[in-house]
Amino acid sequence: MPDTKRNSIVDLRSDTVTRPTPAMRRAMAEAEVGDDVYGEDPTVNRLEQRAAEIFGREAGLFVPTGSMGNLLAIKTWTRPGMEVICERRAHIANYELASISAIAGCMPYTALAPGGILTWELIEPLIRPKVYYYAQTGLVELENTSNMHGGTVYPPAVTEEICERAHVSGLPVHLDGARIFNAAVALGRDVREITRHCDSVMFCLSKALGAPVGSMLVGSQEFIRKARIGRKLLGGGMRQVGVLAAAGLVALEETPKILHRDHENARYLAEGLAQIPGISIDSEAVVTNIVIFSAAETGLSATTIGDELAQQGILCGPRDKFTIRMVTHYDVDRAGIERTLAAMRALLTKTPA
Ligand SMILES: *Cc1c(COP(=O)(O)O)cnc(C)c1O
Repeated sequence: MPDTKRNSIVDLRSDTVTRPTPAMRRAMAEAEVGDDVYGEDPTVNRLEQRAAEIFGREAGLFVPTGSMGNLLAIKTWTRPGMEVICERRAHIANYELASISAIAGCMPYTALAPGGILTWELIEPLIRPKVYYYAQTGLVELENTSNMHGGTVYPPAVTEEICERAHVSGLPVHLDGARIFNAAVALGRDVREITRHCDSVMFCLSKALGAPVGSMLVGSQEFIRKARIGRKLLGGGMRQVGVLAAAGLVALEETPKILHRDHENARYLAEGLAQIPGISIDSEAVVTNIVIFSAAETGLSATTIGDELAQQGILCGPRDKFTIRMVTHYDVDRAGIERTLAAMRALLTKTPA
């Protein structure tokens, strides 16, 4: 049966909306499985091993969501009563239901960073003195790419400096690398190279890589051993989950090769939007697959624009009153971007599309 809905909808709400490719579905159908709580699922074991290899780490852990991966890292590196330094718009501080506090017992301590890129200069003043009546800093958390700042990328030297200085201060660094492969493609470097100074890395198989479900944690043997216990504690011990890991393996091996297309489409979208009166966006700053722009000067709210586009089968994500986020991914092609630009032009200049 032809999937007509999929063809007529341009879904730019997030890169989480991708459906498994035919290759993923085949791999899922044919996956060898076993009970992963007993460590007996060969497909999960292969995925964890490949993720560790690709990131140059001792071990990996398959987790149901990126949120759980981040939470496990926070719980593993900290004790209740500690603070976690992160950027003001970080996913862990805004979109994970305050699990950092509700479950890990920590407080986020944030700085607003230009473009979402923290520097040691911004982090250092947030480190608490070692005085018994202060909450102690337990962890530094970075997000690469920075989602809510428009998919911006950490220059490798900045990550390296933060990690080296944090380590001197006795602080581990966790990387929320939900879209680290996008960062790697934008930089033309390996994920291994751009993450090697971080103590743990979470990355999503279910975002730009296109798997239907799942994220990974990678780190040392000892870190992953603790995170595995934490995963079971949170009810995340899964059984014959090789059917999902199989799709994850295809995503991990195949999708990074084509991510550059999403970036080209995002830049093309940003450049087109920049030419529409009333829209403000720095299209030069769009280097990965996330486009965030303000429509404040049009006088139309983000939800009004979102509703109008939705009537034409184009879905986007209003962020706040006048800000809209559009995310490209492998289920959106250039024609879909052209359609989006035509609809935006028609809506904002009142000329027929
Ligand atoms: C999506 C995302 C996550 C994790 O999301 P899940 O929906 O829980 O998989 C974490 N960090 C960032 C930056 C994200 O964009």
